[in-house]
Amino acid sequence: MRNLKLNLKKLIALGGVTLVLVTTSGCSKKADCNIDTYHAHEYINSSGYTRYIDKEYLEYEGYQRQEKSINLSEKDKELYKYLDKRNLLRIDDNIDTIIETQEANQNFTEYRYAYTYLQPIPIIHHTGKTSHVSFIFVPRTHYSWTRDANHSRLTGETRECTYEYTSYKIEKDENGKFVLIPSPEHKNIIATKDEFPYIKEDYYKVINLTDSCDASYEDMETDDPEHIEEETVTEDNSLSLTN
Ligand SMILES: [Zn+2]
Repeated sequence: MRNLKLNLKKLIALGGVTLVLVTTSGCSKKADCNIDTYHAHEYINSSGYTRYIDKEYLEYEGYQRQEKSINLSEKDKELYKYLDKRNLLRIDDNIDTIIETQEANQNFTEYRYAYTYLQPIPIIHHTGKTSHVSFIFVPRTHYSWTRDANHSRLTGETRECTYEYTSYKIEKDENGKFVLIPSPEHKNIIATKDEFPYIKEDYYKVINLTDSCDASYEDMETDDPEHIEEETVTEDNSLSLTN
């Protein structure tokens, strides 16, 4: 919400009034609420994750407000503001969804394959005082990984992948401010939740077991340092021809 406000200021400064109207609709809609003590409503997103947020927006950062609420003390207020600001989910509010995700996240094998694409090489043509750009296309072969054992052009190399999880605990520093402490990467959110009771929405990543690092999908076309987009053609990165 804070980001949106900043953007709105910018948009208003630019005179983008129509855009502003489009952007705010839906987000600023609030529910009528008769509860007069401090409370937080349950909010659920489309993947089934739950957060308790002390707001009345019908929709908030991809989460839909539910009527269900919990009463909070003034002491809780600071913590719930912090959970909101850092996009943290309480594991206890999301046990079933987490277990389901962990069960689905089984180790898997990936297969390396080759693919070829046509790399555009820009050519600037000079004709008297004017110039224009055309492209020639050079075939280039790259490699990536797939879970499809029947993919075309497999190289015969495989790698085993697994999932690793990160959860968090919140402590206070010497000034009484909250500090977010990530867990070491582990295999089970539920087993470590007493010590690390929070997660963020992206609480797991895929690890390549062969060299125990993040499974990267190298050699993607967009990672090619020689790849040049049409709009970034300059005299320096193109061939230059005089007609
Ligand atoms: Zn309410």
